[in-house]
Amino acid sequence: FKIPAIDNEPMRTYASGSAERRALQAAITQMKQELPFEVPCIVNGQPVKTGKIAKQPLPADHAKHLCTYHEADEATITRAIEGALAAKEHWETMPWNDRAAIFLKAADLLSGKYRYKMLAATMLGQGKNAWQAEIDAAAELTDFFRFGVKFVEDLYSQQPSKNAAGSWNRTEYRPLEGFVLAVSPFNFTAIGGNLAGAPAMVGNVIVWKPSPSAIYSNYLIYQILKEAGLPDGVIQFVPGPAPQIVSQVLTSPDFAALHFTGSTFVFKKLWRDISNNLDTYKSYPRIVGETGGKNFHLIHSSAEVRNAVLQSVRSAFEYSGQKCSALSRLYVSASVWKNGFKEQLLEEVAKIKVGNPEDVETFVGPVINETAFEKITGYIKLAKENGSEILIGGESDGSKGYFVKPTVVLTKDPQSATMVEEIFGPVLTVYVFEDADYDKTCDIIDATSSYALTGSIFSSDRRALIRATNRLRHAAGNIYYNEKCTGAVVGQQPFGGARKSGTNDKAGSVQLFYRFVSARSIKENF
Ligand code: GLU
Repeated sequence: FKIPAIDNEPMRTYASGSAERRALQAAITQMKQELPFEVPCIVNGQPVKTGKIAKQPLPADHAKHLCTYHEADEATITRAIEGALAAKEHWETMPWNDRAAIFLKAADLLSGKYRYKMLAATMLGQGKNAWQAEIDAAAELTDFFRFGVKFVEDLYSQQPSKNAAGSWNRTEYRPLEGFVLAVSPFNFTAIGGNLAGAPAMVGNVIVWKPSPSAIYSNYLIYQILKEAGLPDGVIQFVPGPAPQIVSQVLTSPDFAALHFTGSTFVFKKLWRDISNNLDTYKSYPRIVGETGGKNFHLIHSSAEVRNAVLQSVRSAFEYSGQKCSALSRLYVSASVWKNGFKEQLLEEVAKIKVGNPEDVETFVGPVINETAFEKITGYIKLAKENGSEILIGGESDGSKGYFVKPTVVLTKDPQSATMVEEIFGPVLTVYVFEDADYDKTCDIIDATSSYALTGSIFSSDRRALIRATNRLRHAAGNIYYNEKCTGAVVGQQPFGGARKSGTNDKAGSVQLFYRFVSARSIKENF
C-alpha cells in the first residue's frame, strides 16, 4: 500500500476577469441569499436541535448573521461522549488505508467541489478576504488532510531497528484510550479541521467544540468528512459555550487528550481543570495547545529595505493581524529607519484598503467581534496615553462592521504594553535601535518574549542572521530569514512555539501525531 503522491494544494489567485473569481463571487452571492443557515449539533452522525439558539454574525455587517446554531446542552454532551466511545472500536480497527482514503477524499472534495463554498463561509463568517480564505480554507485545510495521511504513514513506519536472533519486535501505534477533546479557534478554518482531523486519522474519536465565530465553516468541514465516508460518531460536532461544555467533558473518566488552539488564558484554565480532575481519568491526558504570540521582525542595518517593509506590512496587517503568527513588534536599526524604511512603511500602510472582505481589493477586513474591537482600540488609546507616538491609524468606527484602521505605533520603551502584550489586531509597534546595539536588541527581544511563536530576521549579512538566531534560541518556534513571520506551510515549516505560545507540538508535521498515539511494543519469538 502506497498513498498517492502528495503536494501542497496550488493556490488560486482570483485575478480580475478570471473564471475562478466569477465562481467565487457566485458562491458568495448565493450564500448571502440563503443565509442565515441553521446549524445543529451532530451526534452519531445525526443532527441534534437543542433549541438553545445562538448566532454567528458577519463581522463586516454585524446586524446580519451567517447562521443560527444549536448549542449543545448537558444531555447532548453526555450522548456525544457515549456515542464517540461506542464508535471507537470500529474506527480504530478499520484498516489504515481505509481511514486514509476518507481523509484523501475529503481533501479532494475541499480542493474541488466545495472550494468556493468553504471560501465564502470563511470570508463572510470570519471576515477574511479572498486571498486569506484561499490560504486557509482551500490550501491549508486540504494540506492538513493530505499531508496528515503521509505523516501517519511516517509515524507507523517508525519500527524497532533491531531484532535479536529468532525474534521479531514491532511497535504498534494505538490510538489513545478514551476520546480527544478538540477546541478550535475562529481565525483559521483549517485549524478546526486539523484539531479534529489529526487525532482522528490515527484512530481516535473526537468531541469537537468549534469557535462560536467559525461555526458555519467548521460545520461544512464536518459535512465534507461525512460525505467522504467518516463513520458516524467518530467526530461529534458540539458547538456552544466553552465553560459549560468543556467543564462537563473534562469530568469524564474517558477524557484522554486536549487538542487546543486559542487564548493563553483559556488554555491555562483548561490545564488547571484537567489537573484538578486527574484522579478521575483512566490515563494521564495528553495536552496539546497553541495559544498565541507576540511576534517580531528584527531589521539589521544590512537589510534590504524594500523587502523588509513589504514583508512587515503583510505580516502585521493581513487578516487584520488576527493570526497567532502575526507581526506585532518591529525592531528596526536606526540607519535603516532613517534611510527609507519609515517613509515607505507609512506610505504602504496609507495605501491599505480597509473594507468589506468580499471586495477583492480589500486588504484589511473587520476584526472578528465587538470584544476584539474594544480590546484592540483600547490598546491604541493606551499607547497614546503612555506617550508612544501614533504614526498612522488610530481612531476607528465599529458601528456597522468591526473595522480597525491599520495602526503603527512608535515607542521608545521596549517594555511598553503594545510591545509585550498580545493584541491580536492590526496594530504594529516599532522600536528603533542604534545600529551598534544589534546584539543588545536581541537580548531585549528575548527578555520580552513571554510568547515565543514566530520571528523574522532581515539582513544581507549571514553573520548577523546567525548571531540573532543564536541569541534568540528560545524566543520563537518558527524563525524566518528575510521573509515575513506568518504563513507556515504544511509539510514545509512545522508550526508552533513554546513559552506562553503553547506546547510546540508542531502542526503540519509528523511530530503532532505522536501526541495522539500510545505505542505498544510487541515481541515475538520464532
Ligand atoms: N500557521 C499560521 C501561520 O503560520 C498561523 C496559525 C495561527 O494563527 O494560529 O501564519
